[in-house]
Amino acid sequence: MADLAMLVANIAARAATATDRGRVADYIPELAKVSAGHFGIAVVTAAGEEFAAGDADMRFSIQSVSKVFALVEASCRHGDAVWTMVGREPSGSAFNSIIQLELEGGRPRNPFINAGAIAVCDLIAQGKDSAEAIAAIMARIRDLAGDDSIDIDPAVAWSESVTGFRNAALANYMRSFGVIAGPVDATLSVYFQQCAIAMSCRQLARAGRFLALGGVAPDTGLPVISAERTRRINALMLTCGHYDASGDFAFRVGLPAKSGVGGGILAIAPGRASIAVWSPGLSPQGNSLLGTRALEQLAQATGWSVFNPDV
Ligand code: GLU
Repeated sequence: MADLAMLVANIAARAATATDRGRVADYIPELAKVSAGHFGIAVVTAAGEEFAAGDADMRFSIQSVSKVFALVEASCRHGDAVWTMVGREPSGSAFNSIIQLELEGGRPRNPFINAGAIAVCDLIAQGKDSAEAIAAIMARIRDLAGDDSIDIDPAVAWSESVTGFRNAALANYMRSFGVIAGPVDATLSVYFQQCAIAMSCRQLARAGRFLALGGVAPDTGLPVISAERTRRINALMLTCGHYDASGDFAFRVGLPAKSGVGGGILAIAPGRASIAVWSPGLSPQGNSLLGTRALEQLAQATGWSVFNPDV
């Protein structure tokens, strides 16, 4: 296997000189302020070694990467009841599409498109107010990353809430079918704040490490979630983690991964490593252009892939 330190440094050096960097998301005004010039990468191995390069310690808006941690939180609280509200199929549509909801009785295709993530937030908020629900998600992420400094960027949360008309439409639509049970405003508040969590690549890679370890928290040796649920979450990341480019990502990289429109991607090489990349310029489907390319280079050089029998 390639020398990881050198590999990570080389990947960052290549990204630094890239001229086609994609387009920074601008439909959430606060995200448009971030320069497309950034690139960061952090690899935390299953054994706990860390390799990082570029802007690996700069915090960015994790956006939809948060949907993985919210799903973990909901699974811990509600177990398989999550799947009565949310499906497990790739959507083949944009992350904020409403069309499928109408055709499929208001039940979102999977927990990683916006509708599904809003339904997951509603589950977490059951029996709580929105402040308690977001506090539970934050506590989970801080615990997994071993870092109490992780927080929500209030400017991004505000920007989302004043422009999130389509998310409000999705939530109201699901409420009309009874897929969402709680007050729509409270559920949306949890969702907008969750999307606005700011983390660095290093923090994100640390937080995802349990997914490379069969659900076991590396510091305590205790299960965060069962090995079976971990396998299922990794399966969903592989099949649904990149919106309607999930097939292309599996083809090119072959690892479970979740992207966000802030330009971050968390990827899991089961038994090997947790990897986070960040570059704010996006592909037309909303996935980090250089981040995807970096993961492709890493997977090729290391052989890490859930489809590779030799690793
Ligand atoms: N907060 C974003 C939205 O709801 C998240 C989108 C994403 O990262 O996929 O539109």
